[in-house]
Amino acid sequence: MTSKNNQKMSFHEKIYLVEIVKGLFITLKHALTNLFHRSGPGGIRTVEYPEQVKTVTTGFRGQHRLTRRDDGSPRCTACMLCATSCPADCITIVAAEHEDPTIEKYPLIYEIDELRCVFCGLCVEACPCDAIRMDTCIYDMADFTRESLIYKKDLLLNS
Ligand code: SF4
Ligand code: SF4
Repeated sequence: MTSKNNQKMSFHEKIYLVEIVKGLFITLKHALTNLFHRSGPGGIRTVEYPEQVKTVTTGFRGQHRLTRRDDGSPRCTACMLCATSCPADCITIVAAEHEDPTIEKYPLIYEIDELRCVFCGLCVEACPCDAIRMDTCIYDMADFTRESLIYKKDLLLNS
């Protein structure tokens, strides 16, 4: 019998017994570590969420938000570039004429289906107006219905 890299297996490897004991030892070691919550290097690597919340790193792509102009209106000009670049097809925009002649359009409806989103960040990259960001650091988007995870314009503007 040979191993994966065509080297001859030793007697111990052939009977698997030592390897099984080694595996059980590793499992027991992790179980005891978790049981006594030993922290630090080599210790427990999980956190007791939601009591403990991990701080996310800079650049983490979390829940989207829509940014505002100085007057509080959405920066979005409903150009559709984000929706066009979205690989998950989860952004819905309905454009409307803006009353300000210097601004061509604004999003009457702007929705993101956070369940379909794959958090690739392409929408943020595509936006020419810095109107959409993913810097909220929010990652615990959970709810009981699919509909409630289709985030509407007001929610995105106030995130
Ligand atoms: S992060 Fe990616 S998948 Fe999610 S809305 Fe933006 S472009 Fe679409
Ligand atoms: S968020 Fe940016 S890319 Fe998307 S429609 Fe608005 S202005 Fe265009």
